[in-house]
Amino acid sequence: MLAKATARLGTETAFEVLVKAKALEAEGRDIVHLEIGEPDFDTPKHIVEAAIQALRDGFTHYGPSAGLPEARAAFAESAGKARGVRIPPEHVVVTPGGKPVMFYGMLSLLDPGDEVIYPNPGFPIYESVINWIGAKPVPLPLREENDFRLDLGDLRKAITPRTKLLIFNTPHNPTGAVLSRADIEGIAELAQKHDFWLLADEIYSRILYGGEHFSILSLPGMAERTILLEGHSKTFAMTGWRLGFGVAPKPVADMMAKFATNCNSCTATFVQKAGVAAVQGPQDAVTAMVDEFHRRRDLIVDGLNAIPGISCKRPLGAFYVFPNIKSLGVPSAKFADLVLREGGVASLSGTAFGAHGEGYLRFSYANSQANIRKALDRVRTLVEGMH
Ligand code: PLP
Repeated sequence: MLAKATARLGTETAFEVLVKAKALEAEGRDIVHLEIGEPDFDTPKHIVEAAIQALRDGFTHYGPSAGLPEARAAFAESAGKARGVRIPPEHVVVTPGGKPVMFYGMLSLLDPGDEVIYPNPGFPIYESVINWIGAKPVPLPLREENDFRLDLGDLRKAITPRTKLLIFNTPHNPTGAVLSRADIEGIAELAQKHDFWLLADEIYSRILYGGEHFSILSLPGMAERTILLEGHSKTFAMTGWRLGFGVAPKPVADMMAKFATNCNSCTATFVQKAGVAAVQGPQDAVTAMVDEFHRRRDLIVDGLNAIPGISCKRPLGAFYVFPNIKSLGVPSAKFADLVLREGGVASLSGTAFGAHGEGYLRFSYANSQANIRKALDRVRTLVEGMH
């Protein structure tokens, strides 16, 4: 019944684990949710108010597929300012969340057989979309010894004359790794030399703990071959609103807007108005949220490292940790299931992010310190019981 191509479509396990965890809760179990990648904070009030005002002002109709001119201009201005470059508003496409930038971006660039290098472990939708289009996925392993940053030597080896696109993500889901300026310069040099495109997923660009976000768009000549993926979901705790945007050279941006016309028509206009208020209004809620994530990061990293058999790097960005569980001797998927069913803590197996995630778990620390402490106690008890 289903189209053959659907067999190539992947998914995001986080949503499946959420369903499993909810089923256990329905049976009366207490589950700590560390599986889903969304801030537990509410959207700042002034953003909510801007949406309500927009609804009252009649922003209840269709809008242009590429986004309201005012939203494109505001997002071009804020994303450009953060990266020290001028972004023309007509290069911005507003989308319902950051995800459509991946989908429409790849549909715009890839032909079947084109090779796409992407991080593994990495956001599972990259591989899913590459496969669905019929392009060839070329996983780039991210290794703990390299703090889960991509290795330029590995990248060089993965490049062939058929390489059309490199996807990279900084700060990174699931490891929290942040690429250095030297990493980004190395990527730029290779992209120019071998003439491939870049999909820079910078959705966590504002969620950093010291250090600086360095964007490939800040380097000369890169805007011409880059699709930037940005959005409001993580920065402004707006996951459920569905608001993101892409920045791309005009022909690619126009094509992405054409895909939007074919699929979602436009992003809800009152949501875009709220998004404008988010980037133009006070930023103190973002700072407060990141400060709190910083404290939780230290809590969870220290707590995990205190459990025998688990070791965990201290990530520089995003709100995930990717602890090494290899010495427990249990495959990641099985251990994640054990942690859920016996420990009452929902997490994701590292393999939910690709084969190179074996030996790791992903915890999201977008949850209260009290819940993180509870989760750590439960994991510790479980692991101690295994010895
Ligand atoms: N890119 C990465 C690396 C993510 O982790 C996510 C969400 O989890 C997205 C993109 C998509 O974000 P959105 O919810 O705005 O579609």
